Amino acid sequence: MQIEKVYEPQRFEPQWARWWIDSGVFRAGKPRSGPVFSLVIPPPNVTGSLHIGHMLEHTEIDVTVRWHRMLGENTLWLPGTDHAGIATQMVVARKLAQEGINYRELGREKFEERVWQFKAESGDTIKRQMIRLGASCDWSRERFTLDRGLSAAVREVFVRLYEKGLIYRGEYMVNWCPDCQTAISDLEVTHSDEQGHLWHIRYPVHGMKDRALVVATTRPETMLGDTAVAVNPTDPRYSDLHGKTVELPLMNREIPIIVDELADPEFGTGAVKVTPSHDPNDFEAGRRHNLPKIQVIGNTGIMTEAAGRFAGLDRFEARRQVVAHLEQQGLLVKVEDYPLNVAKCARSKTVVEPLISTQWFVKTKPLAEKAIEAVESGRVAFVPAHWSKTYFEWMYNIRDWCISRQLWWGHRIPAWHCQGCREIIVARQAPQTCPRCGSSRLEQDPDVLDTWFSSGLWPFSTLGWPDQTEDLATFYPTSLLITGFDILFFWVARMIMFGVEFTEEVPFRQVYIHGLVRDAERQKMSKTRGNVIDPLVVTEEYGTDAVRMALLLGAAPTGDVVLNEERMEGTRSFANKIWNAARFLFLNMERSAVEPWLPGSLENYRPEPEADTLEVPIEDRWIFSRLNSCAEQAGRAIEQCRYQEVAQVLWQFFWGEFCDWYIELKKIRFRENSGLTAGWRNTLAAFETALRLLHPAMPFLTEELWQRLRAGRQDRPPSIALALYPRYLAEQTDYQAEREIGIIQEIVTMARELKAESKLDRKLPLEGTFYSANAALEVAQKHASQIQELAHVTLQFHSGAAPKAAAMRSTAEFDLVLQLPTAQGEAQRKRLEKEREQLSKIIESSRRQLNDQTFLSKAPPTVIEGIRKKLADYEAQLRKIDGQLGKIDGAL
Ligand SMILES: [Zn+2]
Ligand SMILES: [Zn+2]
Repeated sequence: MQIEKVYEPQRFEPQWARWWIDSGVFRAGKPRSGPVFSLVIPPPNVTGSLHIGHMLEHTEIDVTVRWHRMLGENTLWLPGTDHAGIATQMVVARKLAQEGINYRELGREKFEERVWQFKAESGDTIKRQMIRLGASCDWSRERFTLDRGLSAAVREVFVRLYEKGLIYRGEYMVNWCPDCQTAISDLEVTHSDEQGHLWHIRYPVHGMKDRALVVATTRPETMLGDTAVAVNPTDPRYSDLHGKTVELPLMNREIPIIVDELADPEFGTGAVKVTPSHDPNDFEAGRRHNLPKIQVIGNTGIMTEAAGRFAGLDRFEARRQVVAHLEQQGLLVKVEDYPLNVAKCARSKTVVEPLISTQWFVKTKPLAEKAIEAVESGRVAFVPAHWSKTYFEWMYNIRDWCISRQLWWGHRIPAWHCQGCREIIVARQAPQTCPRCGSSRLEQDPDVLDTWFSSGLWPFSTLGWPDQTEDLATFYPTSLLITGFDILFFWVARMIMFGVEFTEEVPFRQVYIHGLVRDAERQKMSKTRGNVIDPLVVTEEYGTDAVRMALLLGAAPTGDVVLNEERMEGTRSFANKIWNAARFLFLNMERSAVEPWLPGSLENYRPEPEADTLEVPIEDRWIFSRLNSCAEQAGRAIEQCRYQEVAQVLWQFFWGEFCDWYIELKKIRFRENSGLTAGWRNTLAAFETALRLLHPAMPFLTEELWQRLRAGRQDRPPSIALALYPRYLAEQTDYQAEREIGIIQEIVTMARELKAESKLDRKLPLEGTFYSANAALEVAQKHASQIQELAHVTLQFHSGAAPKAAAMRSTAEFDLVLQLPTAQGEAQRKRLEKEREQLSKIIESSRRQLNDQTFLSKAPPTVIEGIRKKLADYEAQLRKIDGQLGKIDGAL
C-alpha cells in the first residue's frame, strides 16, 4: 500500500468533491417507509459568492446531514438560490452604470433580460463553491426562487390570501427610500443615533393679535405640508383656542387647531404640528380628523410643487432655506441640540422618508396567531431555546407586512388593473377580459413582491407544492433548519406563518440559530477592518477538512464563532496526525506483508483473540470500547447541534487516544511479535471505524484513506459517505479494558511529568517503585513491560503505601516513586561528558594522522610509535569515562 509522505489535501479534495456528485452519492432515496431526514438550505443570493459565514452554516448542516445519511436514513439536503430582489437589482444596475447605461432608460423588459443573463453567468458560482467544499446536497433537486414551480406556488399563495381577505391594497405610510425608489420594510431600515436639532417655530393664531402657538420639530421642511396644529384636550393653556385656526408661516395658509391625544402636554409647549403626508403618527391623526394630505417631499427626495417657493429643492437644502426664512421673519423662537434616531435604508444608507403610497399588504395577525401556537406547543423548537423569546416578542407585536416593491426584478404581483372600470383582478393566470366591464385593456400591476414572500414558501414550494408530490409527502415537514439570527424575522417567522397556513404543518421541527464568525479579537469580519477570511483561499491553503474542523471547534455554544489562522494551523496538524497514523499502519502492513483487510460487515466489529494466547489484546479491547463511547457522544452532540463538542470529541479521540496511546501500544505489540494476524485485523478494523466516526466532520481525508483501505472491495458501499456510522451498543463498553489502560496512562503520564519537572529527557531510563494496596498493583504488574517502553521507567512493585519521597505522585489507588538523579550525580555527569567530548576529538585527529599515508611515509618511526601509544591511552581513558557515565545512568 503506497501512501505519500506528506498530507496534501489539495491533491485529492477536488477529485472526491467531483466524484461524490457524479456518482450520485448524495441523492435522496425514493420515497419509502423508514426514517427520513430532510433539510432545505437557506438559499444564498444567486449573484453572490460564498463567504465564511456560509461556510460555517454549510459545515454545520453538512455534519448533521452526513451523520443522518450514515445512520441509513433517507436523507435530503435540498440546495438552491434566492433571486434576492432588491440586492440583485442593485448589483446589476451598478454594473450597467459602469457600462454607462442607465437601467431606467433601458426599460423593464431589457433590464430583466440583463439580470437573467447576469444570473446565468454568475448563478453557478455558489454551486461550484459548495461542491468544492464538500456540501452533500442533492443537486438533482436544486431550486431557484424564480423558477417555474416556485413562481406557481407564489401566485397560488397570493391568490388564496387575497381571496381570504388577508391581502389588501391600501394607502399607507411606508418607509420610502428616495435612492432605491421603493418602499422598504421596517426590517430593511437601520437606525442610528445622531445629533440633530429641535427648531421651535411660532404659528400666529388667526384673528388674535398677541396669541401664537409654538411648535417644535426636528424636520422643519415638513411644516410646508402641515394641515393642522394639535393641542391636548386636557391642556388648560389652550382651552380657549379649541376651534380656532393658525396662520401657517411661509405658506400663508390657514390651518385648524385640533384637539387630539397626539399632543403631549409634557413635551415642549404641548402644541404639535400635524403633517399627515410625512409622519406616521400624523397620518393616523389626519385620518381621525379628516385632514387633507399635502405631499411636499417627492419620491426622489425633491420638494414638490406643493412646497411653493421651495419646490425643486433637495429636501435637506429645503430645510436650510425654511429655517433661514423663519429666522428672517422672526418666527424662529429657538434652536436646541437634540439627539435623533435616524432611520436609514439598510442598502443605500439613504435617510428614509416616511411617505404615503398605495401598496399591497398582508394582514399578518391571523397568520401570526397560528405561528405563535406552533412554537408555543413545541411543534417547532428553537435551539438555543432563548431565541423563541425573541420570536414571540416580534410575533405578538407584528404589523401588517407591506409586500409590494417598486422594483423590476422579482415575482410580479398577480393583479391586473382594468383600464376601463378600474377593477382589480387577482388571478393565477393572466385574465383576458375584465369580469366586470368586459374590457380587454388590462394592465398588470407594475410592482413585484418582497423577496421574502417567495422565500417564505421555500420549505414546501421546493418540494413541489401546491402539487401533492411524492417529495412533498416524503420530505415535508423538514426535520431541521440551520440559519443565522439576522434573518429570524425576515425569513424564519414568515416560513412558519406560511407553512402552518398552507400546509397545516410546521415547515420544520427544529430551528438551530448559529452565530457570527469573528476574528481572534472577537471582531466582526468586514472589508473595512481587513480581517475577512475568504473560505476559498483558506481551504486552498489548509485544506477543506482543516477549515471545517476549525469552524466547528470555534462554534461555542454561546453563539459567536472565533476563527483565525492559528486555529486552522492547529486543525491542519490534526489532519496531518491522522495522515501519519495511516502512513504508519500502511507502511507496517507492507513490511509485515499483511494484506489489506477489512471485516465483512460494517456493523460493530468485535476484536478477535490472538491465535497463540487466545486472548484479545488489551489495547484492542480498549480502543473498541472507546470507539463505542465516542460514537455515542458524537452522535448525541450532532443531534443537539452542539458542534463544538462534536469536534472536541473527535479530536480527543483521534489524537488523544488513537494516535497517542493506541498506536504506541500497538508498536510495542508488533515489536514483540511481528507475526500476529488478529492484532492486525483488529487494528485495521479500529482505524476503519475511526474513519467512519470522523467522516461527517472531515469528509475528504476520511474518504481518501477509507478508499485506500477498501482496496477494491466490491462488497461494501462505494463511498464512506454511504457506510454506516459506528453504532453505540451498551454491551460493547469494556470497563475492564478501560480501567487497565487507564492505569497505564496514569503511570506513564506521571512519570513523564516528574521527568519534565526535573528537566530530564523524557526518554532517560529511570527506576521507580509502584505502591498499591489494591487491585491496581496487579494491573500495573501485568503491564510492566508496556509501562517501561512508554515511560522509560523500570518499576518494582510493592503492596501498600509509599514512604514519603521527593519524586512522588499519587492517586487514590496508588503511589508512584521515581529515583531521580541527584544534583551531585548530574554535575559529575556534565563534567565527564565534557571530558569525553574533548577526548573524542583528540582520538579522531590521532586516527586521522595514522591513516595519512603522506605523513606516515615522512615522519620518523619513533614519532609514529609515540602517537600510537598515546592513542591507546586515550582510548583506554574514554572507556573508563563511558563506564563511569554508565554507572551514573544506572543509578538514576
Ligand atoms: Zn435604499
Ligand atoms: Zn373593467
